[in-house]
Amino acid sequence: MLGSPRRGRFAPSPTGSLHAGSLLAALGSWVQARHAGGAWLVRIEDVDPPREVAGAAQSQLHTLARFGLVHDGEVAYQSMRHGLYQDALQQLLATGQAFECHCSRSTLAANGGIHRACVATRRRPDPAIRLRVPDGCRITFNDGVHGAVAQALDCDVGDFVLRRSDGLWAYQLAVVVDDAAQGITDVVRGADLLDSTPRQIQLQRALGLPTPRYAHLPLLLDAEGRKLSKSEAAFSVNSEHPLATLQLLWRCLGQSPLEGHTTLQGFLRAAGEAFDLRRVPRQALSLSAAAHNTITTVDA
Ligand code: GLU
Repeated sequence: MLGSPRRGRFAPSPTGSLHAGSLLAALGSWVQARHAGGAWLVRIEDVDPPREVAGAAQSQLHTLARFGLVHDGEVAYQSMRHGLYQDALQQLLATGQAFECHCSRSTLAANGGIHRACVATRRRPDPAIRLRVPDGCRITFNDGVHGAVAQALDCDVGDFVLRRSDGLWAYQLAVVVDDAAQGITDVVRGADLLDSTPRQIQLQRALGLPTPRYAHLPLLLDAEGRKLSKSEAAFSVNSEHPLATLQLLWRCLGQSPLEGHTTLQGFLRAAGEAFDLRRVPRQALSLSAAAHNTITTVDA
């Protein structure tokens, strides 16, 4: 599979156990990669130690294995890849596309919150590094689920952070460098990252990297309409009924039921063959109380 021209990936941050939305992204990216005859890679996005939970990466990998979502090649860990991010940053600084920023959060907030020019009155010992977003920069792309998406990057986002003032790499830089370094052609992930995509495309252009295909899957809501996201770490995926859970998530992807499968492997093989990205719904999905109970368990 690793020799295939198509490559998808799943890239969880190790901030807790996998939640239902992450498992949907794992399944969606897996079936899309397999449907394209491609490889599926797993990358642990552990570049933010303060947000990391000890043992979470191992638990996430264990959960993927319980669901039969087997990755190709070695698992990549962003914490081992600092050199790649440093090289990219150096390239952007050397070409004047990135700059040191001494603005504090509060001065920036007092100036509308969006960085277009530095407003700091004094230098700080720990400046951040930002990407300069040119005036009039408008990014458009065609999302596999959402269709045409456009964002005025200068007005809506502004110059964005690549290396934080605490020295940590920003998600945007690390994800762009890694997707390119790992040869990812198909990014399938949750809709919460839809509005990060224009930043990633701008960064790819600044670094001379290719832009993969993007598809953003619907967010899952509980029966009361609350987001089942990683920020609400109270609900983890329940791995006791993996086949029933995958069948439920498959329906959440808008796909016709695949009947008669008694093994995970059989179901996943059929799902990879049958997957149709065009059927994936755009809007967030409310899980019924029963579905919620099947998929999740309350953390102790
Ligand atoms: N690590 C990110 C997260 O867990 C996902 C990154 C991505 O898929 O681009 O939210």
